[in-house]
Amino acid sequence: MATHSQWGQVGNTPLLLLRQLSHLTGCHIWGKAEYLNPGGSVKDRAARGMITAAEQSGSLQPGGRIVEGTAGNTGIGLAHLGVERGYQVSIFMPNNQANEKVELLRALGVDLHLVAPCPFRDSAHFYHQARQFAETHPGSVWMDQFENPANAQIHYETTGPEIFQACPQIDFLTLASGTGGTIGGTSHFLKQQNPNIRVVLADPQGSALFRFVREGELKAEGSSITEGIGISRLTANFKRAVIDDALQIQDRDLIDMLFFVAQNEGLFLGTSSALNLCAAWQLGLAHRGSGKNIVTVLCDSGTRYASKLLNKDWLNQNGFNPNPGRIAET
Ligand code: PMP
Repeated sequence: MATHSQWGQVGNTPLLLLRQLSHLTGCHIWGKAEYLNPGGSVKDRAARGMITAAEQSGSLQPGGRIVEGTAGNTGIGLAHLGVERGYQVSIFMPNNQANEKVELLRALGVDLHLVAPCPFRDSAHFYHQARQFAETHPGSVWMDQFENPANAQIHYETTGPEIFQACPQIDFLTLASGTGGTIGGTSHFLKQQNPNIRVVLADPQGSALFRFVREGELKAEGSSITEGIGISRLTANFKRAVIDDALQIQDRDLIDMLFFVAQNEGLFLGTSSALNLCAAWQLGLAHRGSGKNIVTVLCDSGTRYASKLLNKDWLNQNGFNPNPGRIAET
């Protein structure tokens, strides 16, 4: 197949059956292989949706500058697509994210600003720095992935329909949330097709969303090594989600899952994908032997975090002693 752009290659990813997890639970556990997008993550969809909206509104002009604050993947998606379309790209990112993402952004030639992590209320937070930069640099457009409706909308228009077409008998959708774009758009679409589909938020420690869904209170406890997911405020994109329940997943469990799927499914995935699969597996165990269809998203590849996940010292320092066999024994 010949193609003139990566742009048209975003989305239409396969829905992959995780055969061993399905076998262990007696359910069908499916993962949407978003790591196959041109920029390597689910965030390519948001990048395409937000660039399209900015072009259509006229705010992004030829040769203009795309500005965004990101944990990395949105920046990588914006860089792949933005560079291809002739835009300049400025990215603000916390300095504690995996080095692979930083190096990739540098290789793509973006104007990269690494900032010290700080609370959202602090004006030095990457979110506010990105906005301020765009306001003071003419020709720049701040993407604002947290509040920009084009983020959830692209999942409503593409991810949701693709899942429903591939698996019309879907019983559960379980997803983590960063900006809320994926769960916002996908759950909205699927619930419209069939209100009986159960939507379950998968949340890491250190995020306030689990307590919010369960008890209506935004309260966070602990911390997580996951990147790009978990948040302590309600965003416009998250508010679009239609959610029935939430599960909180411990880092120790997702690390075991990460190596389980590497060794048993042949998939080396990032931490948010492993967290999503933990939630899918727990739902499968709760409905053991029922044959239910449980769908989640495989957001990016573990190679993006190799300096952490494949580094014994890093694993030790963070208190991990991966035990993938535990997944099979449960
Ligand atoms: N997984 C990874 C690896 C991500 O980078 C992100 C987005 N930051 C997500 C999941 C969550 O996606 P969303 O922003 O659509 O909630």
